Amino acid sequence: MSTSSTPSSPKLFSHLYIEKAVLNHPQTLAIRAKFSSSHTIIIDHYKDVFNRPNQSFAAQSDSKKLILARKEGKFLHEGSQYSDGFDHEQFFYASSVMGCLYDCDYCYLQGLYPSANTVLFVNLEDAFAQLLPYLGRDTLVATSYDTDTLAIESLTHQTSTWLEFAQHHPNLYLEIRTKSANINALKNTLPNERVTLAWTLSPQAIIDAYEHSTPSLSKRLSAISEAIKLGWKVRLCVDPIIHTDDFETLYPPLIETIFERIDPNAIEHLTLGSFRMSQSHLRSLKKLRRSDIAFYPYTVKDEMATYPETLETAILEKMLAKATNFIPIQRIRTWQRQS
Ligand code: SF4
Repeated sequence: MSTSSTPSSPKLFSHLYIEKAVLNHPQTLAIRAKFSSSHTIIIDHYKDVFNRPNQSFAAQSDSKKLILARKEGKFLHEGSQYSDGFDHEQFFYASSVMGCLYDCDYCYLQGLYPSANTVLFVNLEDAFAQLLPYLGRDTLVATSYDTDTLAIESLTHQTSTWLEFAQHHPNLYLEIRTKSANINALKNTLPNERVTLAWTLSPQAIIDAYEHSTPSLSKRLSAISEAIKLGWKVRLCVDPIIHTDDFETLYPPLIETIFERIDPNAIEHLTLGSFRMSQSHLRSLKKLRRSDIAFYPYTVKDEMATYPETLETAILEKMLAKATNFIPIQRIRTWQRQS
């Protein structure tokens, strides 16, 4: 299986910016050893680099730099209306990385961050300390919510560190969302029934057009098969669905392609949801002028941009009709605006 999506080559991060405060952190030392041929620049604070004015997201996307920093505030944030907490009593997402190795045209990170570079907060131990007071109750943490942690696992080992932490906390459930094919990163870890690996899947034409630098659909499906064989709980997410003129020939057939390769009985859920984004992030996306996705005439209500309700309903109905040929509706989760 290919691991081409993992950053094994120092070329990926030609420059390392390192906050003085984390120079001697064990993870900093390990990353410096791995990227020994990268230029290293010592900085006072990650914002001095990451928040600089007038950065070009597009140019930086082709040559990402890595910034190692110490997270000073909250690692954990309450799950938002844009995502599913799967009925857990408490739902948080952990923000230990800013930026993503991948570059999806529909990603709200482009509207959220001033830079396409990656900030890695190395003090994950503080995330665990912040989480501990909540772990008397059933708690879901999405560890890869606004990044793709598995894509950079060979660099950060954050996913394996989370898995190790979860072993000791029986009320803790993890969701690890990814587009990566880097299943090798998990091969040395015993599956945990409270951990779900959630793969985002799109038709290959959508991957080619909008999900730059991500593994192909075929590689993702191979990784999913492997994960299932290894005993991991797996969720499949056809979300976000990007509506194009070719929707009919792309998305319903995707369901068939998926279940030709993946046993529906072996997956926990299939989730379906069409594109949505906050109005403010969409405005930022438009300013970047990188993709036609930003310029669709969305319906905006309560600050959230979605496809018009009739289209959103038609997308979901079409996808549900196809998906229920393979998997019972009780194991399909859908996201639709609550009107
Ligand atoms: S993989 Fe996810 S976090 Fe990364 S760029 Fe794509 S949508 Fe954004």
